[in-house]
Order: sequence, then structure tokens, then C-alpha cells
Amino acid sequence: MRGIKKLMQIWRTKKERKQLYFTLKGKAKENDVELVPVKIKEIPVHEGVRLKCLVPQCEFYGACRICPPNLPPVSEIRAALQYFSHGFLVVFRSAPISYEEASEVEIKLLEAVEQLEKLSWSLGYYRSMGLVVGGCKLCEQCASLGEPCRHPYRARPSPEGLGMDLTLLARRKGIPLKWPPGEEVFFLGLLLI
Ligand code: SF4
Repeated sequence: MRGIKKLMQIWRTKKERKQLYFTLKGKAKENDVELVPVKIKEIPVHEGVRLKCLVPQCEFYGACRICPPNLPPVSEIRAALQYFSHGFLVVFRSAPISYEEASEVEIKLLEAVEQLEKLSWSLGYYRSMGLVVGGCKLCEQCASLGEPCRHPYRARPSPEGLGMDLTLLARRKGIPLKWPPGEEVFFLGLLLI
């Protein structure tokens, strides 16, 4: 078991891990987002989170090709998470905003996550994978399932659609995220390494 765990670790030393964190932190600052390191075992995954996409039904449910039910089962995601060695919550803080403004913020957050993913990938962390909350906002209307995605390298499923409870994770990490939102609104992304 220990052997497998070691094999899955992609950095050799704590120093390497620290270096990556500080490099990514600099890039995050350029993009007005914060980075919060998380361990993979700290990411809560539950079928109930996926159920919340359906009840009450999210506007993206079935309408977006990378939202439920067009995603792998949650059990598969739970198992797949073990492939990664570490994660970072990507946090964008904002004053209360309208629904339209929220879509713009989610695109901005996607751009930040893309840059962080690209940077860590270019440093040799080839498993790097970024996710962003909310349904994909890149097209006004998603391409139908029989057609190719219009932005295949940019479109990302939301962590919630994959069954990850980012609200719980963020709260456990000291981010005062509230539902309904309070004076400060938090938009979350997740970078897996
Ligand atoms: S990029 Fe466009 S086509 Fe692709 S998942 Fe997003 S909305 Fe759908």
C-alpha cells in the first residue's frame, strides 16, 4: 500500500512542494485569486452533492455536456481522485453581485485556473487539472451531445457536478462561505496536481 502511495506522489521532497506553492501563489496574485493548499483526502465527495444538481434542478442539468447527467458516476470520481497528490482551492472574493456579473466572474476565475494549471504543467506536474464552479459559461448555448465541444481545451466540469463538496472544504479551510451569500461572495476553483 505504502509503495503504491509513494508511486502516486509526484514530488520527491517537501522543498519541491513548497517551491510549487510559492510559484503558483505568485501567479494567483497576478490574477486576483488566493490559493489554499488542500490534501486530496480532505476533499469531500458524496453522491448527495450530485443529487443537488437535480433537486431543485439546476439550469445546466442535462443542458450542458459537462454537467450531470453527462458525467461519470461519483464512485468513479472518488476513485480517480487518488491519482492526484495534492490540491489547491482557488478563491476569488467579491462583493455581492448580480447573476449576469457572476457569469463574468466565473469566466475570470476559469482564466485564472487555466493559467495556474498551465504553469504547474509547464513545471513538470503533468497531472495538473483545474476545475471551476458553475456550469460552463463559454458559449451562450452548449453544443448538443452529438456535436463536438466548441472549446474542448477550456471547458471544465464543476467540482459539484463531479460530487465534490467545495463549500464544506472551503469552510473547513477557514473560508467564511455562506449560503445564502453574505456581505462577501466566494467563487471557488480547484487545481489538482
Ligand atoms: S465550451 Fe461551449 S460547447 Fe463546450 S461545454 Fe462549454 S458551453 Fe458546451
